[in-house]
Amino acid sequence: MSLPTGRLEKIEIARESDFSHQQLYFILSALPDPCFILTRSGRYAAIFGGKDSRFYHDGSSLIGRNIHDVLQYEKANRFVREIDKALASRTLHIVEYSLSGSDIKGLESAGPGNAIWFEGRVQALDFPVDGEDAVIWVASNITEKNAVENRLRHQSETDALTGFFNRRKLMDVLALKFELFQEEHIPTSVLMFDIDHFKTVNDELGHAMGDAVLQAIADVCRRELRKTDFLARLGGDEFVVVMPATHREHGIVIANRLRQRIAAEIGDTLKHHSTISGGLSEFERSDTSFEDVMKRADDGLYRSKRAGRNQISTI
Ligand code: GH3
Ligand code: MG
Repeated sequence: MSLPTGRLEKIEIARESDFSHQQLYFILSALPDPCFILTRSGRYAAIFGGKDSRFYHDGSSLIGRNIHDVLQYEKANRFVREIDKALASRTLHIVEYSLSGSDIKGLESAGPGNAIWFEGRVQALDFPVDGEDAVIWVASNITEKNAVENRLRHQSETDALTGFFNRRKLMDVLALKFELFQEEHIPTSVLMFDIDHFKTVNDELGHAMGDAVLQAIADVCRRELRKTDFLARLGGDEFVVVMPATHREHGIVIANRLRQRIAAEIGDTLKHHSTISGGLSEFERSDTSFEDVMKRADDGLYRSKRAGRNQISTI
């Protein structure tokens, strides 16, 4: 809490010296998050607070032990590096990490079972502890906050009907891939496709059947394309597939196979004749932005529609 300047002298503020040593100890014990005193070599010199076992394991058995005796090799090394950074900077050092019960040797069994995400706030102490430089490391459980953030991010990036990425995420990914292409010239093809006469599916068979067709197409894409291909629904009945490490000549083969499989799948499972038309292009050195390749793919799609549909054009 910040206090209004000029009024400070009139307000009674409890100073550390107003508390007895015992009271200060109780205050430290009541800190909501566990606070470790860790030395430069990684020794747990003390632990205060963090007593609620719904959020934290009881760490009292750690006292006197070294991080290397307690944590897995990589995690222990990382912790020591973070302590070094806090000691070097003398400023508040913030670090995010996960720990599960199995990462830690010799813990009491009470406490959360799954991996816990922590935010560690690490500050160098101005006095040595057991003859060593030391830090105070406050470890806050941020598991729930992370889960909410991940869920919200996922929702903001995906299309609910098909589970594909949405337009916003597609734009981010294309921008990244284009940067990579400019730096390392990794060939990348982009296919844009649209369902033929989709309005008649909705009109004749109903909107629910239309949705089923969109989902069936998404399933075929997931099955037929590579894990590294990026799948997005641009909106309505329009989709985009970004194919990394793929030249146009190879991309057109993949796109035509996909076109045939989609028609076959919808014919077989939904007993309806549905086809797609598409445009395919790849990043070119003369491109100034990813929008150039999107424009060519869109032009290709338009050309396919004009030429009678159920085909892929490359530009
Ligand atoms: P074209 O061959 O020229 O593409 O003809 P089309 O009938 O497919 O025309 P267009 O692509 O312009 O129309 C897409 C239609 O997709 C319009 C809209 O009613 C329908 N649509 C858009 N989003 C959804 C959706 O989420 N579910 C369903 N069932 N239909 C949708
Ligand atoms: Mg259409």
